[in-house]
Amino acid sequence: MKALLFSETPENFNRLSSMLKKLGLDIHGISFSEVKADYIYLANERLDYPSIVKAFEELGNKLNPDLYVFSSTKLGKEVASRFSQRTGLPCLTECLSVEIDGSSIIATRYSLGGKTLMKIKTDLPAVIAVVADAFEIEDFDFKMEKVDFEIKEADGINVISREEKRREKVGLRNADVVVCFGRGVRRKEDIELIEKLAEKLNAEIGCTRPISHDYRWLPEERMIGLSGEKISPKLLISIGVSGQIQHAVGIMNSKTVIAINNDENAPMKEYSDYYVIADLYSLIPELIKLL
Ligand SMILES: Cc1cc2nc3c(=O)[nH]c(=O)nc-3n(C[C@H](O)[C@H](O)[C@H](O)COP(=O)(O)OP(=O)(O)OC[C@H]3O[C@@H](n4cnc5c(N)ncnc54)[C@H](O)[C@@H]3O)c2cc1C
Repeated sequence: MKALLFSETPENFNRLSSMLKKLGLDIHGISFSEVKADYIYLANERLDYPSIVKAFEELGNKLNPDLYVFSSTKLGKEVASRFSQRTGLPCLTECLSVEIDGSSIIATRYSLGGKTLMKIKTDLPAVIAVVADAFEIEDFDFKMEKVDFEIKEADGINVISREEKRREKVGLRNADVVVCFGRGVRRKEDIELIEKLAEKLNAEIGCTRPISHDYRWLPEERMIGLSGEKISPKLLISIGVSGQIQHAVGIMNSKTVIAINNDENAPMKEYSDYYVIADLYSLIPELIKLL
């Protein structure tokens, strides 16, 4: 059995190729850099969705793979769904585990916005987008045969210029201390309070989705949760965060969690070691003074 794999980063690529190798598949991979696969199609870096779909159609027709695999990133999910729409193949995104069962695949994936997990079985060939972080890079004996490959511009697409998206460098993933705030902070100016506390604790600042995506007070790199960063600090101080499951999946590996909330029964209580029922506007200035 064969898989055709694409991921925009070598780390995600190698996590997924290890996962596929464990299932006993031969891996044909399109990549921009050296990666672990049986056949590596070293391509020029073209990252527009239609061109990657075109490359998959071209190689797919030649190789007839059983599985078309992407990482479940924004780009990966977009390409997977477009490719599936064009070929009529079934498509599963947000996959957390994958098994082969004869001529079918069984995948576990998030559903209802991450509140539940569902298991789905579908016939092969199929298109899947997999959460790469769920898998480790392992040392398999890959054939490592290299083939030059050009991702051509898709018809009707004329790239005039490319500009790197400005991203803030954020060390949330490896931070020992994180101060995360949510909608309990009422105004943008009040972030100063959070910043002062974070400075005292030498902490990275994280936030919930409404803060980065609805209000746009912080860049998306600071969002913690299902669609953001998964953190594992020694200490997380969570301020004015309700603790909905989509946020909570990002904090579950934190060692000690202190939550500050004025609602005595917010879901955040369930994920906290210490749950302080207080108005953040009264408590945080006092805390800063004490520190
Ligand atoms: C598909 C999908 C993916 C999602 N992915 C993510 C994700 O990755 N990350 C994420 O964060 N969200 C995500 N969400 C959104 C998520 O469901 C919640 O809506 C969001 O996490 C709520 O943010 P919040 O806690 O800041 O706001 P709210 O739910 O409004 O909570 C604010 C909290 O602040 C408390 N509060 C208010 N005033 C004070 C005060 N003065 N002092 C102390 N406490 C106070 C309130 O009691 C409340 O508990 C996703 C949703 C969907 C559907």
